[in-house]
Amino acid sequence: MKALVYIDHFKGEVQPASWEALGLAKSFGSASAVVFGSGVDAVAQAALEYGADEVLAADDPALLDFRAETYAATLATLASAHSPDLILFPTTTRTRELAAMSAVDLNSNVITDATGMEVSGDKVVATRPIYEAKLFEKVTCSSTPQFVTIRGRAFPKPEPQPGKSGTITKVEAMTDAITTVEGYSVADVGVSLNDAGVIVSGGRGVSNNPSLQPPAGLDDKQAEIWRAQQGFTLITELANTLGGAVGASRAAVDAGYIPYANQVGQTGKVVAPDLYIACGISGAIQHLAGIRSAKMVVAINKDADAPIFKVARYGVVGDLFQIVPALTEAFRKKLGK
Ligand SMILES: Cc1cc2nc3c(=O)[nH]c(=O)nc-3n(C[C@H](O)[C@H](O)[C@H](O)COP(=O)(O)OP(=O)(O)OC[C@H]3O[C@@H](n4cnc5c(N)ncnc54)[C@H](O)[C@@H]3O)c2cc1C
Repeated sequence: MKALVYIDHFKGEVQPASWEALGLAKSFGSASAVVFGSGVDAVAQAALEYGADEVLAADDPALLDFRAETYAATLATLASAHSPDLILFPTTTRTRELAAMSAVDLNSNVITDATGMEVSGDKVVATRPIYEAKLFEKVTCSSTPQFVTIRGRAFPKPEPQPGKSGTITKVEAMTDAITTVEGYSVADVGVSLNDAGVIVSGGRGVSNNPSLQPPAGLDDKQAEIWRAQQGFTLITELANTLGGAVGASRAAVDAGYIPYANQVGQTGKVVAPDLYIACGISGAIQHLAGIRSAKMVVAINKDADAPIFKVARYGVVGDLFQIVPALTEAFRKKLGK
């Protein structure tokens, strides 16, 4: 099977699931990495090191910013010239748009967010979660090339071979665009939830420590948020100790404890860490929809009947304000931090 693998990056910073897509494509046959942007030599070299048989690079100042119309036209032209069986992407906001537009250009379709994949004849059959991950669907597409986006951390990442060389071929960029990127603003969310191997999340329970005395002059709502901030400080310390990211339930986000960027669940981020530590989170179905791909869930909750314990491998029934700092302390000792 002949595959193109789109390496998604922001100004040279590659989405790690791009390498997972490359490793997956290699397991099916030949894999050419596709790199778009301006000044992308380092990304192209990294693609060779992660196992690409070759790199097809459209390197043009007009591709400095991702714009669906330039990128999709470039990809569709490239795919027409190379006739791949399969085009793989990591699932990101950009690639959902890119895959959809270029698939339409090539009269094909897109299968998004695959968590499993196998070859059947000259096609792939992808597995993807549906109905809030309560069901897994096997789906294929009869048109060629097949376009599939894969969920981050669902497939193994290949080991890079530093210094590996190979062919980097420049391909033509399609530069007609109707949109202009006016600028970017940075959201301060620390380690990305999508890429995190460890996530420590807090729910409504992070504000529940009546013994904490807020500063004078705060009304009830402000006092609640102040308490929650103390709770999230403990959660952040544990996450930092484990090199992980901080997540939250929607109740915590809606109550103003933490920004929406941290929300995990049906209407937040769908995550797939090795370890997910849920603190003061009840385990509502909409929250669980975001963590079904987590390899191990640990729950800390005062209520022994909380539904989160049904999905947790390990559970601690207790007050997070005692358990979380104790865990941080124990991990610091263990990890020599
Ligand atoms: C359409 C829709 C979409 C939604 N999308 C999402 C989503 O994306 N993500 C999401 O999370 N929710 C989502 N929800 C909301 C969801 O239904 C729940 O309301 C929410 O997940 C509850 O958050 P929580 O567990 O933090 O709060 P609660 O359900 O109030 O649970 C708080 C928990 O903290 C425990 N607790 C309290 N104090 C302590 C303490 N000191 N120590 C230890 N434990 C303590 C309690 O025992 C309790 O179990 C959605 C709802 C709808 C209708």
